[in-house]
Amino acid sequence: MTQILPNERARELRDLINRYSYEYHVNDAPSVDDAVYDSLFGELKQIEAAHPELVTIDSPTQRVGNELKGGFQKVAHTSRMLSLNDVFGRAEVEAWAQRMDKQLQGVPHEYFADIKMDGLACSLVYYDGLLAQAVTRGDSFVGEDVTNNVRTIPNVPLRLRETSGFERLLTGRTEVRGEIVMLKKDFEKLNQRQQAAGKPVFKNPRNLAAGTIRQLDPKLVADRPLTFIAYDLIREDPNEIPTNMFAYEALSAIGIRRNQQASVHTSIASVMTFVDMWGDRRHDLPFNTDGLVVKVNNRAQFESLGIVGKQPRAAVAYKYAAEQATTIVKDIVISIGRTGAATPVAVFDPVSIAGTTVQHASLHNADEIARKDIRIGDTVIIFKAGDIIPQVESVVTELRPKNTQVFHYEQALKEQYPELEFERQGADVVYRVKNTNSELLLKRALQYYASRGALDIDTLGEKNVVALVDAGLVNDIADIYTLTIDDLIELERFGNLSSEKLINAIQASKAPKLEKFILALGIRHVGAQTAIDLADAFESMDRLQHATLDQLTQVEGVGKVVAESIVAWFADEDNIRLLEKFTSLGVRPVYTRRSGKLVGVSIVITGTLESMGRDEAAERIRAMGGVFQSAVAKDTTYLVAGGKVGASKLKKAEQYGVQIIDEGRLIELLQA
Ligand code: NAD
Repeated sequence: MTQILPNERARELRDLINRYSYEYHVNDAPSVDDAVYDSLFGELKQIEAAHPELVTIDSPTQRVGNELKGGFQKVAHTSRMLSLNDVFGRAEVEAWAQRMDKQLQGVPHEYFADIKMDGLACSLVYYDGLLAQAVTRGDSFVGEDVTNNVRTIPNVPLRLRETSGFERLLTGRTEVRGEIVMLKKDFEKLNQRQQAAGKPVFKNPRNLAAGTIRQLDPKLVADRPLTFIAYDLIREDPNEIPTNMFAYEALSAIGIRRNQQASVHTSIASVMTFVDMWGDRRHDLPFNTDGLVVKVNNRAQFESLGIVGKQPRAAVAYKYAAEQATTIVKDIVISIGRTGAATPVAVFDPVSIAGTTVQHASLHNADEIARKDIRIGDTVIIFKAGDIIPQVESVVTELRPKNTQVFHYEQALKEQYPELEFERQGADVVYRVKNTNSELLLKRALQYYASRGALDIDTLGEKNVVALVDAGLVNDIADIYTLTIDDLIELERFGNLSSEKLINAIQASKAPKLEKFILALGIRHVGAQTAIDLADAFESMDRLQHATLDQLTQVEGVGKVVAESIVAWFADEDNIRLLEKFTSLGVRPVYTRRSGKLVGVSIVITGTLESMGRDEAAERIRAMGGVFQSAVAKDTTYLVAGGKVGASKLKKAEQYGVQIIDEGRLIELLQA
C-alpha cells in the first residue's frame, strides 16, 4: 500500500470535516454519526500536532461552529461562545488535571462537573430582568438573533424571578448561556404525531431542535416542543459570580432551568467517580447527552487559565467511549476457520471503539467486500456489533486515495494459499477448502495440538482423537478439557484404566509452555522456532493476540506473510472464542524466559548427522536456549556441516561471517 502524505491527508480531512460541519451546523442535517466526525477530527488534530506547519486558518480545528445561514440579524457576542476540548478516558482527564495543577502553581482548586447536553447553544440576554435578546452561538464571535423563536420556548422566562439574595441579577445586563434541546419524550410524541398525520418522522432531537430554532416562522417553532437548559451565567462584574456552582444556584434562584446533577469535586478521583456513575445512567436522562463537562470551579482561576485556540484551558468535554470510529485499512488477509471457510479480515491501525483497542474486523465473505467496495488504503467506519467482534460499516469514499485497486478475492486466495484449492457451492457466499469438512479439520487440529512437538499429551494419538470426534464428545480443541472418565467409559476403546490415564494426561497439559501452546494452535506458517520467537517477543498470549502487524514483523524471522497469517488467525471469530474457552477451562500457558548456555546462539544444520536426527538436534538446541534455524541468515552463529556443505550455503556462511563447525563440535556445545 502506498503511504498517504500527511499534507494530502490533512487537506482531505479538512475538506471533508468542513463539509460535515456545514451539514451539521448550517443545514442541521448531518450525514455521519458524531463519533465518525469526532474520529476524523481527532486524526486531523494528531496530524496537525505532529506537523504544525500544516495548520491552516480554515482548518476545523481552528474554528467554532460554522458560517451563518442568513435570514436572521447578526449579533456580536460580548464574550466568545467557545467550544470545548474533548478528552477520552481516565488518563486524558488526569493529564488535563495535572496541567491545571501546574498552571495554578499548587494553589488548591475544585472541579465542577455537569452533564453535557446535545442540543444547540444559545445566549439569552436580560436587561433589568426582562428578556431582550436570544442569540445562537454562530461562529463563536457572531451569532443569529433568534429572539422571536426563543420567546416561544415555554420554559424560557420572559422576566427573571426575584429571589431574596439574588435581586442584583435583575438589574443591568444578565446573560444566560445554555442549550436548547428537545426532550426525548417530546421528540417521541412529536414523531407519533408525524406518523399519525402520514408525515415523515424526524431522525434525531438535536438536529430537529437546531433546525427548529432557525425557522423563520415563530408559529412553527411554537408547535415544536423545545426546552432551554442553562449552563452559564455572565455579569458585567465577574466578581458577582465567584464559582460555577454559584452560577448554577443563582440560575435556579432567578427561575432558569439547569441540571440538578451538576456537582463540585475536590479531587480528580471524585470527578472520575462522577464520570463512571453517569456512564450508564446518562441514558436515563430526559435529554440526549454528549458526555460530561468538567471545569475548574473558581471563576477567577478559570479566567486566569486563559484560552488556547478556540477552547478555554480550564474546561474539557469528557466523551464516553464511542461505538464507532474511523481508521485506514492497511491490508486484507484471509483466515481459514474451523470449518474450512475462508474468511477475509481487514487489518488496520489500532483504534479505540467501545472502550477497547481493535485492529482488525471480519469482512465475512467476498460478496460483502464487493458490496461495500472495501479496498486496501480506504478509510472505513468501524463499529462493534453487540459483543466482541468489530465490523466495517462502510467506506468513507471521499477519503479514498487515487491509486486504490478493487480487491480481487479469488486472486488474493490464490496468493495467500497457493497450496490449497477452494470451492463455493451453490448459493453459498463463502469459499471453503475443497475436499474437506469440519470433522476432518478438527481431527487434524486436535492431533496436532496433542502431538509430541506441541502439547505432547500422552495417549491422545490418532485413534483416540478419531474416537472422540466421531462420538461427538469434542467439537473444538478446547473441549478435551471438559472430558470426564464417565464420558470415555461409554466408548468402546476405553476401559477404566485407559480413561483415567487419558483424562490425567489432558489435565496435566493445562499449564503448557507458551511457545508450545502457540505452536499447538496450528497457526499457518508458525512452526516450532517461530513459536519460540513469538513467545520470547510477547511473553503472553494476550499480548500476542493484540500484536499489530508492525510489531509482529519486528520479530526475528517473522516476515509479512507470517505476520498476516498470525493476525488473520487471531481475527477469526471462532479462534477468539476458542481462546476464551481455553481460558475459562483453566488452560494457562506459562512463559519462562529462556536460559541455558546457548541463549543468543543460532544454529543451522546442513546434511545428515550421525548421532541424532534433525528434530532431536533442534529440540536439544532449543532446550539449551539456542535458536534452531532452517537457513543461514545474518544472525546465524554456527553452520553445522553434516557431510559436505553445498557451494551456495558455504558462500552465504562466508558472506555473513558464520562459523562452520562439525558434528563433534555440536555435541560438545550440547553438553551441559
Ligand atoms: P463542543 O463539543 O465543543 O462543546 C461546547 C458546547 O457544549 C458549548 O458551546 C455548549 O453549547 C455545549 N454544552 C452542553 N452542555 C453543556 C454544559 N453542561 N456545560 C457547558 N457547555 C455545554 O461543541 P461544538 O463545538 O458544538 O461541536 C462539536 C460537536 O458537534 C461534537 O460533538 C461533534 O461530534 C458534533 N458535530 C457533528 C458533526 C456531524 O457531522 N455529525 C459535524 C460537526 C459537529
